[in-house]
Amino acid sequence: MKNLLLIASLLTHSCLAQQVAVTLDDLPFGYSAGMSDSMKIASAKKILTILEEFDIKATGFVTSSNMSEENQVILDMWLKEAHDLGNHTHRHYNFNEVTAAKYIADIDSCKLLAGEWINTDYFRYSMLRRGNTKAKRDSVYAFLETEDYIIAPVSIDNNEWIYNRDYSRALRNNDEEKMIKIGNEYIEHMKEVSLKYEKMGVELTGRSVRHILLLHANPINAKYLHTLLGWYKSEGWEFITLQEAMEDSIYATNGDLVSDYGWSQIDKLQKIGKK
Ligand SMILES: [Zn+2]
Repeated sequence: MKNLLLIASLLTHSCLAQQVAVTLDDLPFGYSAGMSDSMKIASAKKILTILEEFDIKATGFVTSSNMSEENQVILDMWLKEAHDLGNHTHRHYNFNEVTAAKYIADIDSCKLLAGEWINTDYFRYSMLRRGNTKAKRDSVYAFLETEDYIIAPVSIDNNEWIYNRDYSRALRNNDEEKMIKIGNEYIEHMKEVSLKYEKMGVELTGRSVRHILLLHANPINAKYLHTLLGWYKSEGWEFITLQEAMEDSIYATNGDLVSDYGWSQIDKLQKIGKK
């Protein structure tokens, strides 16, 4: 009987597809080792074409200090494809190194400079860092609440930015062999962390949670996003919007963790021992 119940529960679980919302930070375009604006625009087009091919409505987060007269057309392109855009601060500070007042002013700067493109209330912390003291954290929480921002968490945290940094340098040096090696390692890493957070989510809640994937608009994704999304699809994952993902109760709490580090929501809930 026990075995039958176990089989039934496994079957139920396997019928429920894993779901993931795709988010890309640091728009118009993130770390790219000195790429020209025209190269950034071409790479952004590739990313948007891939999203369209997988029928994904993504959410992009704008870091307004990455904007230039020439590359802001990338934001027009995102809106034209009916994706959502949120605020990701102006200077992308490490919140551990600045005051809450300075951090809040930086959120306002992004709104001022990129407000004509930002079409949602979503806000994502730079480096996911929410404040290394309770006072700093709570000041920004209070500001975000007053201004009706919605904090956009992530569930699948990862080292994509490190792979991108190395890939971008190899690209600049025209080192094709190295680019392929890093690209393959990137995909393996993303598979590993996706399965890890899926498993942790199930352990935490007893079900498959709605995931939010953290990526960046960057050179490695201009080349490898197609492979990555193809892997999710082949594994039976469904693509959902950030709004749909955030209906999951795991995102209902900010949690009371004060830390130097920016955590995935799943790591956070596990650390503070809440479901
Ligand atoms: Zn960022």
